[in-house]
Amino acid sequence: MSLPEPVTAAGRQGLAALLADPGGALIAVDYDGTLAPIVDRPAEAHPAPGAVAALAALAPRVAMVAIVTGRPVHAVLRFLDLEQVDGLADLVIAGHYGLERFVGGRTEAPLPEPGVGQARARLPAMLADAPAGVSLEDKGHSLVVHTRQAAEPAGALAALTPALTELAGEVGLVAAPGRFVLELRPGAIDKGGALRRLVAECGARSILFVGDDLGDLPAFDVVEAVRAQGVPGLTVCSASAEVSALRDRADLVVDGPEGVVTLLRTLVQSAA
Ligand SMILES: [Mg+2]
Repeated sequence: MSLPEPVTAAGRQGLAALLADPGGALIAVDYDGTLAPIVDRPAEAHPAPGAVAALAALAPRVAMVAIVTGRPVHAVLRFLDLEQVDGLADLVIAGHYGLERFVGGRTEAPLPEPGVGQARARLPAMLADAPAGVSLEDKGHSLVVHTRQAAEPAGALAALTPALTELAGEVGLVAAPGRFVLELRPGAIDKGGALRRLVAECGARSILFVGDDLGDLPAFDVVEAVRAQGVPGLTVCSASAEVSALRDRADLVVDGPEGVVTLLRTLVQSAA
């Protein structure tokens, strides 16, 4: 397998730095749409074939392998089957955008924001008249309204967004959009903050971040900010037909979770 060529000079520099010194690299990847194909039911988002094995093979060769996701840690752990994959003992999972963390085999979590409880109490009444197929996912630290299974997912989301945004504001949360979802969550939390903390923790000398959705843009921002401070990095987009915002910003575009797995495998070989 040969390595793909990033389209930007900064990306080429980032990849070269990573390969020259894999032991200093932070490899951070989103979960849904990046390690796992997007599916109608979030509870069935299993990793793409080979994804977990590729992360496990990479882990001992680099400074840190981390999954950075909006999902709670336990939801990701359920998909990973950790006991079957030795290398994943070192895996870090920044769940809930870093609000929750799995590190050294243990989950650390702070208490949910009070605003989440207030929104939880009011959302069922608000969604009572929503189109069929609209559903509410309670992630503990945040609440997610899904419209993917509605007859018109985009229209349903657009119709619900003003009221949900207003509710979020009233209880001190923000309404963050994604692929046919709107997530009500504490505002100061995003994948950028989660990634920044990981960079500091592992003393990364290079960074690779892979994402697929709008929620990954703050992590792209961090890669670019850290790059400006002299730490090389590479942003990778796991491309889909649904979202194009990330594609234009990425140093490298790969073809969905399958393309991500191929990239990770190639890195394992190149970083041997
Ligand atoms: Mg994603």
